[in-house]
Amino acid sequence: MKIIFIRLFLFTFFLFFSLTSYCWGFYGHQQINRLAVFLLPPEMMILFKPNIYFLTEHAVDPDKRRYAIAEEGPRHYIDLDYYGKYPFSNLPRQWKDAIEKFSEDTLKAHGIVPWHIQTMLYRLTNAFKEKDFSKIMKNAAEIGHYIGDAHVPLHTSSNHNGQLTKQRGIHGFWESRVPELLADQQFDFFIGKAIYIEHPSEFIWNRVLESAQAVDSVLLFEKELSHRFPEDNKYSFEERNGKIVRQYSSAFTIAFNNKLNGMVERRMRQAIFSIASFWYTAWVNAGQPDLKSLTNSRFSENELASFESLNNAWRNSNKMMGREEE
Ligand SMILES: [Zn+2]
Repeated sequence: MKIIFIRLFLFTFFLFFSLTSYCWGFYGHQQINRLAVFLLPPEMMILFKPNIYFLTEHAVDPDKRRYAIAEEGPRHYIDLDYYGKYPFSNLPRQWKDAIEKFSEDTLKAHGIVPWHIQTMLYRLTNAFKEKDFSKIMKNAAEIGHYIGDAHVPLHTSSNHNGQLTKQRGIHGFWESRVPELLADQQFDFFIGKAIYIEHPSEFIWNRVLESAQAVDSVLLFEKELSHRFPEDNKYSFEERNGKIVRQYSSAFTIAFNNKLNGMVERRMRQAIFSIASFWYTAWVNAGQPDLKSLTNSRFSENELASFESLNNAWRNSNKMMGREEE
């Protein structure tokens, strides 16, 4: 009896203190940005490869900003189910038409990721035109983040963490736990080369719609497996950064990945390909500037200080809210 109580206590306790879910998890976003570099043509590789550490590290800056800046949140998702059923033809794909129909406030309340990616493409293109090293790097790292998010099924649903179907935690399960456990050993990241995207709006909407189409399977498969796994096989307690955290057990994670039949790997591969292709498209649209002259560029002291203060603000806010750092 006593053991049951302790288990119940631990389970309830860790339910509230389990890992915070970030989009793709920090691990996923960083891997995706890093791997995208290898799809670039030599004319871009000359600048991106020596800066691969920056592009990897800063893949998660938009998530670090989320808690500090109100307008940051909606850039990471879109609750497509708010607009009806797949393929959501009710929702105009062009920003101006969508605002006219639904108002800017409504769009922002339900997420703007496909449109924000196009804003970022515009900024990155300008950065290439200006041959501005730090703008190129910052915008490249950050568009990578938003494109990564657009490839995650639960970033296109209002049931983003399974909160409407008693599957709380499924967000981080799909995008953090599965890749962290399996990507290094099992996923194939040989992807070919970046392509020029003729129609960026159509391209990113197609990716978002693919994500939306996958939502039902993600929720259904987790539910089906949960019926087969008793609670104490579904979760395990593991040490992370010196703390004991509750997470989905390896057996449950592997079973979920098998049932998804490679979905996480496919979405990760597609995200890497899309990011490299957006980077390449921005460079082509800027007139293919010669990037050789930028290879010795460095960030200014001010810029380095602003990266540092973003990190500090994020750490402090984690401490205040009792959130786990990744
Ligand atoms: Zn995000």
